[in-house]
Amino acid sequence: MVLAELGGSISRALQQMSNATVIDEKVLNDCLNVITRALLQSDVQFKLVRDLQTNIKNIVNLDDLAAGHNKRRIIQQAVFNELCKILDPGKPSFTPKKGKTSVVMFVGLQGSGKTTTCTKYAYYHQKKGWKPALVCADTFRAGAFDQLKQNATKAKIPFYGSYMESDPVKIAVEGVERFKKENCDLIIVDTSGRHKQEAALFEEMRQVSEATKPDLVIFVMDSSIGQAAFDQAQAFKQSVAVGAVIVTKMDGHAKGGGALSAVAATKSPVIFIGTGEHMDEFEVFDVKPFVSRLLGMGDWSGFMDKIHEVVPMDQQPELLQKLSEGNFTLRIMYEQFQNILKMGPIGQVFSMLPGFSAELMPKGREKESQAKIKRYMTMMDSMTNEELDSSNPKLMNESRMMRIARGAGRQIREVMEMLEEYKRLAKIWSKMKGLKIPKKGDMSAL
Ligand code: GDP
Repeated sequence: MVLAELGGSISRALQQMSNATVIDEKVLNDCLNVITRALLQSDVQFKLVRDLQTNIKNIVNLDDLAAGHNKRRIIQQAVFNELCKILDPGKPSFTPKKGKTSVVMFVGLQGSGKTTTCTKYAYYHQKKGWKPALVCADTFRAGAFDQLKQNATKAKIPFYGSYMESDPVKIAVEGVERFKKENCDLIIVDTSGRHKQEAALFEEMRQVSEATKPDLVIFVMDSSIGQAAFDQAQAFKQSVAVGAVIVTKMDGHAKGGGALSAVAATKSPVIFIGTGEHMDEFEVFDVKPFVSRLLGMGDWSGFMDKIHEVVPMDQQPELLQKLSEGNFTLRIMYEQFQNILKMGPIGQVFSMLPGFSAELMPKGREKESQAKIKRYMTMMDSMTNEELDSSNPKLMNESRMMRIARGAGRQIREVMEMLEEYKRLAKIWSKMKGLKIPKKGDMSAL
């Protein structure tokens, strides 16, 4: 199950449960069983899933639910917290400091994307002002040095390696020494991978690590590795001091749940994810926005970033004010549609808004959704100011709807459909009343 589907299944399970008139143990168990199945199908390790289920049961108090509290919110928050707990080992990884030499060693199986990721990591830091360098200590795979050389040259990053020398430890030490002298502040050592875990590989890794004394060892893991992720990550961790994880190929049809397992196995955070073959298809990984998006709760920090990027500066405070007032008029919907159309990949933006993602903007149907939004806007163009600014649903009687339909050259049923959409969104936005727009990464207000 790919991550988007996982999120969808969990959201649907929560939705179904909140539709039940009485939430008793059975309803809660059914809901948790669906969530459990979805996580297992996404390759999260069995033990983690079982613990998550037990923890949620302990946290969620059925009496609270019976007392009419917002059940979905309580359980969603518990699921959110538990998933964050799996993904966040509680301690940050070592972060290199600009101007101070750091050695970072990359480990992982062959084909995991290690060499590509080394360059991405170097390139990312170079753009931020670091002076990185790459050392190819992979003497096992023919062509590894060529690949690194090619990538490094493209990114204009200095590199070191040898076609002749077969001792990876020697190359690693020479490379690190050379770049220290050249005052590089981020020396990245790429090591060999093997097709499968084997003693020789781990011994080699240990020796390279002992000789170069890395400040950070990064374990690179292919997101499609599946249930094997936990054991694989643990095997690496037992051989070298893995301090961080990078999960690659998150752009594919990967069952990203393996990433959750890898964090648990190495007790090290995921720091970046690879989202493509190109150098800049590389993203910093943040636990809370990731899980939040996964559960369709909206990624507030991503949404805020987009707002800052797209909504004109002078309109930002007004929009946020309107959001927190929770008074959602048709004019606000119109303005939001305008913003959304400007924001670029429309599905991406929508998935950041709480409650919006699945209904209005089904994945893979972005074009259709965009056309629908434009159609709605044409109809709203035929509305009077009174209609646009009113939040009274009774105002829209039949004769007004007919007038709007005629003015926009549309059917009355389309106007009705648009008003239904408005009501749906107004309901969601009314929940934001009094909401403090959270600061980056803080999801506690949701
Ligand atoms: P290594 O053997 O671990 O060093 O793996 P490579 O760096 O050679 O990568 C193996 C293959 O995976 C190459 O074809 C890469 O282009 C590809 N690859 C690496 N990272 C990503 C990623 O994030 N997304 C996609 N789609 N492909 C990737």
